[in-house]
Amino acid sequence: MWIDTHCHLDAPEFDADRDAVREQARAAGVGLCVLPAVQRHDWAGVQTLARQHGDAYALGIHPLYVPQAQEDDVQALDEALTEARGDPRLVAVGEIGLDFFVAALCEPVMRERQWRFYMAQLQLAKKHGLPVILHVRRSADLLLKGLRQAGVVGGIAHAFNGSVQQAQAFVGLGFALGFGGAMSFERATALRELARNLPLPALVLETDAPDIPPQWIYRTAQARAQGQPQGRNTPAELPRIAQVLADLRGMELQVLAQATAANARRVLPALHALETWT
Ligand SMILES: [Zn+2]
Repeated sequence: MWIDTHCHLDAPEFDADRDAVREQARAAGVGLCVLPAVQRHDWAGVQTLARQHGDAYALGIHPLYVPQAQEDDVQALDEALTEARGDPRLVAVGEIGLDFFVAALCEPVMRERQWRFYMAQLQLAKKHGLPVILHVRRSADLLLKGLRQAGVVGGIAHAFNGSVQQAQAFVGLGFALGFGGAMSFERATALRELARNLPLPALVLETDAPDIPPQWIYRTAQARAQGQPQGRNTPAELPRIAQVLADLRGMELQVLAQATAANARRVLPALHALETWT
């Protein structure tokens, strides 16, 4: 059985066929999806979806949604986490983090605001005894600094694409690193090196659907200019993405499935309880 540790099944891209997409993934062997929320408006939605499909969820405010977030959203998150205490499907605080790739988010005021929301949500993770699901984009060192400051241990650094040293630092803090469709591109040489060489216990698999389409779904800028829409990633792609990782590491697919699922349960311990139900 596969675990997709990062899937935005609540995204509007799935409005037309959400149930069919989840069924298709199940038929492909994806037994469990982790649905990280990105903003307050979506918290109830991921909770409902997770219940409906036997999946797991995380609640948080994503750095790309920090500009429009309200000051009292952190307080609301605290309340939502309190309310969800005892819900076996709540597995983490997320998706939270820092994004220093998007230009508008790199302005000093926005950097400071991102940091404030990040640290406040780390405090909540600590208070509620939950791991975190991190969005890491040109921000690994600062994210690590925040984790150390807040004393938060454990979770997933999603769509990881940093250095070996940064990978080791996350692992040292009890994190696994999320690998997905980005490693299916041959030109992603540094990322493929990481995927090949990091110790197996450090790895978890994810699609980030509908985003990060793997190479076989991705439409080039040229194709898009000719009118083809960008391909939509779905959780059903997870086994094929896993095959890329298995090939890179020269491993049996089944061994990889078992190991990465065990890793996911280790860093998101609440998944232990869910798996027996699926
Ligand atoms: Zn995400």
